[in-house]
Amino acid sequence: MSSNTDFLLALENVSVSFDGFKAVNDLTLYVNKNEIRVIIGPNGAGKTTVLDLICGRTRVSEGSIRFNNQELTELAEHEIVRRGIGRKFQTPSIYEDLTVFENLEISFPQGRTVWGALTFRRTDTVRKRIHDVAESIFLDGHLHRRAEMLSHGQKQWLEIGMLLIQDPELLMLDEPVAGMSVAERAKTAELLNRITQNRAVLVIEHDMKFVESIAHKVTVLNQGRILAEGSMAAVQDHPRVKEVYLGH
Ligand code: ADP
Ligand code: MG
Repeated sequence: MSSNTDFLLALENVSVSFDGFKAVNDLTLYVNKNEIRVIIGPNGAGKTTVLDLICGRTRVSEGSIRFNNQELTELAEHEIVRRGIGRKFQTPSIYEDLTVFENLEISFPQGRTVWGALTFRRTDTVRKRIHDVAESIFLDGHLHRRAEMLSHGQKQWLEIGMLLIQDPELLMLDEPVAGMSVAERAKTAELLNRITQNRAVLVIEHDMKFVESIAHKVTVLNQGRILAEGSMAAVQDHPRVKEVYLGH
């Protein structure tokens, strides 16, 4: 069997079983650089598990996951982060007591190890980077506010910023607009559309209007398998997708 080496991320024939139940079943998925891919599907389809497998939180039972043509399946979670994969979980994990600036600063790669933290200086480069990221997440006017004062949507953006500051080549977001207002959703779409250069973004989302505004390609997952894949219009028109979503 030939395997494809042209993609940033390649999952091939990936399965995972939990007590004999296959949450992900022989999944093959390729994601390009500069691509925003959205995974949709009913609850329990295996979407979050796919992200868990990519970031090494859950181990594959079978199959291969390659990133920049390097196998990830044997690596520890922190090694996968170091390879350039950032993942945002459903609930934001920001430091409420710190300011926006400090949250971004602490996420700057140098600041994250004990040694790095001891030798860490607020260089102009770091400062500039924090300001650039803050601007891209609409928080440049809030740098010195404590994170606990932010709205739910702003907290979600801050967490995206804490990943962006590490300059990941693959950014994975699990239901990033859940609980956001319509205006915040539109701004999140704008944010994601602006950050795809030289990276890929993999998003799980239910809000179809949001999906339509960001997805280059949509993968529909159902019972751990791909039901359909393609443009938003193509998958919405797919008979098996209609069957699962609309029951006819
Ligand atoms: P989705 O994100 O699409 O809603 P999940 O990936 O969270 O679905 O879950 C897929 C299925 O796998 C569900 O039936 C869930 O209960 C099961 N599952 C997920 N993670 C685990 C785990 N760590 N242990 C056992 N079962 C799990
Ligand atoms: Mg999920």
